[in-house]
Amino acid sequence: QAKTSGKNRYQLFDPESDRKAQLHRRTLESLELALQQQQFLLYYQPKVDLGSGRIIGVEALIRWQHPERGLLAPAAFLPTLQGSELETAFGRWVLDEGVAQAARWQAQGLGMAISINVSANYLLHADFYPHLQQALQRYPQLPPARLELEVLESAALADMDQALAVLQQCRALGVHFALDDFGTGYSSLTYLRKLPLDTLKIDQSFVSGMLEDVDDLGIVASVIQLADVFQRQVIAEGVETMAHGAVLLQMGCRLVQGYGIARPMPAAELEGWCRQWQLQGLWRQLGDGPVI
Ligand code: C2E
Ligand code: MG
Ligand code: MG
Ligand code: MG
Repeated sequence: QAKTSGKNRYQLFDPESDRKAQLHRRTLESLELALQQQQFLLYYQPKVDLGSGRIIGVEALIRWQHPERGLLAPAAFLPTLQGSELETAFGRWVLDEGVAQAARWQAQGLGMAISINVSANYLLHADFYPHLQQALQRYPQLPPARLELEVLESAALADMDQALAVLQQCRALGVHFALDDFGTGYSSLTYLRKLPLDTLKIDQSFVSGMLEDVDDLGIVASVIQLADVFQRQVIAEGVETMAHGAVLLQMGCRLVQGYGIARPMPAAELEGWCRQWQLQGLWRQLGDGPVI
């Protein structure tokens, strides 16, 4: 069996790439089935202000509760989804579930801001804005400003005009935006100049490495300065120890997220975690915590 690629060009059957294509198809099929069978769920990782000790919100992170393989992280299935038809269905599901959870917390008096990761493909898809609008309309009690969308620097965002149009539309609803994994892409500065992004997220690799690696430390310091110059908020992810927190505070970055504060957890555990965090008062050892 020969496959055409381009005009009048024939390639020999390549068993290796055929096997890969089959595997890709099968994985997509199983992802679609798993979505129908509600095997996906969102975990939530707290974000805190180390200066005041306040919990400022949570980031929603998708997990696959696989019937045989256990709980799977996004690295196990997001790459397959990327660029597929199914990416839109997943994007919708994550928005719906995240907004619904934010509304539940709101109703419980736990006014929790929620950050949702949106792939660039979905952000620029025609379905995205109307779906977001619908999701927010479903919960009129939920202030749209409680919702932040995290977008990765990526090639898809390179269409600045289109990206700008969507971001402006969403911001008119009151929704905020963060640029995720800042510093790992190559056109960060262009995004920063042109796009109305509220927050820069310093990539976890730089933060977790900054105590041993001066280059990482330099990058972290530069992003904090950039955020200051462009008047954006800055948050550091990958804060694995209190030492990371202390160094970030010294550099003027108060907002943090990382295993040292809390690992991502199911929604049901978050309320208990919040109570415990308030009680422990660990942040008071670090900075200008609340005066009691
Ligand atoms: P991200 O948005 O940059 O999320 C942060 C990732 O770093 C999460 O990995 C989190 O568990 C991990 N992390 C948090 N604190 C630490 C730390 O102190 N040290 C280290 N080493 N890692 C830490 P996770 O949950 O595996 O997610 C990986 C990526 O998958 C996310 O990176 C995001 O880009 C993507 N993702 C996750 N959920 C969704 C989703 O619902 N939709 C889309 N489109 N992408 C998602
Ligand atoms: Mg993120
Ligand atoms: Mg990130
Ligand atoms: Mg990341």
